[in-house]
Amino acid sequence: MIFPRFGKQHWVNQLVCKKTADAHSKGKIHIQFCTVGKRGYVMQYRKFGNTGVEVSALGFGAMRLPVTDPSDSKSIDEKEAVRMIRTAIDNGVNYVDTAYPYHGGMSEVVVGKALQDGYREKTMLATKLPVWMVQKEEDFDRILNEQLEKLQTDHVDFYLLHALNKDRWKTVEECHLLKKLDEAKADGRIRFAGFSFHDDLNTFKEIVDAFHWDFCQIQFNYIDLEHQAGMQGLKYAASKGLGVVIMEPLLGGKLAVPPLQVQKVLPDTKTPVEWALDFLWNLPEVSLMLSGMSTMQQTQDNLMYADRSHIGMLSGEDVAMLGKAKHIYDTMAIVPCTKCAYCMPCPFGLDIPKTFEAYNQTATKGMEKAKELYDTLEKKADACRKCRRCEKECPQHIEISQIMTDIVKVFA
Ligand code: SF4
Ligand code: SF4
Repeated sequence: MIFPRFGKQHWVNQLVCKKTADAHSKGKIHIQFCTVGKRGYVMQYRKFGNTGVEVSALGFGAMRLPVTDPSDSKSIDEKEAVRMIRTAIDNGVNYVDTAYPYHGGMSEVVVGKALQDGYREKTMLATKLPVWMVQKEEDFDRILNEQLEKLQTDHVDFYLLHALNKDRWKTVEECHLLKKLDEAKADGRIRFAGFSFHDDLNTFKEIVDAFHWDFCQIQFNYIDLEHQAGMQGLKYAASKGLGVVIMEPLLGGKLAVPPLQVQKVLPDTKTPVEWALDFLWNLPEVSLMLSGMSTMQQTQDNLMYADRSHIGMLSGEDVAMLGKAKHIYDTMAIVPCTKCAYCMPCPFGLDIPKTFEAYNQTATKGMEKAKELYDTLEKKADACRKCRRCEKECPQHIEISQIMTDIVKVFA
């Protein structure tokens, strides 16, 4: 067993650091910002499609910031969140990602605070237009201007139309949002235009082909190869010159704590998290991997993993091994819930992601553990009134009300 935080890593970093500095001084390579943090991590940078900018292999996702009250997503632990974001930037992260709805609207506010004291100049900033809040063309300007105010900046580097799918694409067309993106680029409020995506491959290709996008953001990881945009979508977007940002690299944490059957397949030379991230960094089409970090420990671990990352880093055997792990997940028939909480709040008080977590644990940890978690829920699955309000919001298209019926039977 290797403990990745210790051992020779620090010394290796010192060596890489010296070589990097030498190469830089001889003009052989380009270094963006100071990439060597206090712990000696060396950030890796990648081409971002045809934009002409280089982005850090790791991006800081601000959708799962630490909170002081787990039942209130708005209660961000500001001091710790600011410390984490600044630590990431100090160690070379140059892409910080937030969105209008994250943490009930508070993520943009806290990110704005984190980027004071000179940090805005050291990083690029991404946020997203909540397309579902747009009813007319003018809403674009109203919302973007509100976001700039919350973020305490005069421009956003990467602006995305958030969570596009077939329905929201209609809104984009009806409210002329592509024209609005061009206008915002022209007046300097945004630098690059993109979209994040949750739907099928054909819809993805249709959207890619419909505009001169600079980049896109897709859900992708070693078990989502054929899901949503999938591997084909990744390659398609990259072939069209788009930078590709990856979200849900750990599928809402599911790949970080794999079931016993998968643990037996993953060699313990790396943590399950590192295997999942390396799968992405191995691919030349991936520009940037976003990680929604919740603790300083996760931030430090991710910086260390990014330090070791490079294109082509996995052997054929490694890739085949991850294929086996995917096969095991596929046969476990668990609910593909990423705990994004877009479906919340449920008007009848159900904690939908936690209910699914308990259900999924019946396959991964056994009935006893799953029941323990299920018993902590204030409202059980039988409280679901099948209103299906949640289903409209779920980017994974989960038939939530139907599965609640199954869950009632499983835990009866
Ligand atoms: S369908 Fe059930 S879980 Fe979904 S919002 Fe309605 S009551 Fe809540
Ligand atoms: S059910 Fe869907 S919307 Fe709700 S947390 Fe899970 S993935 Fe997100």
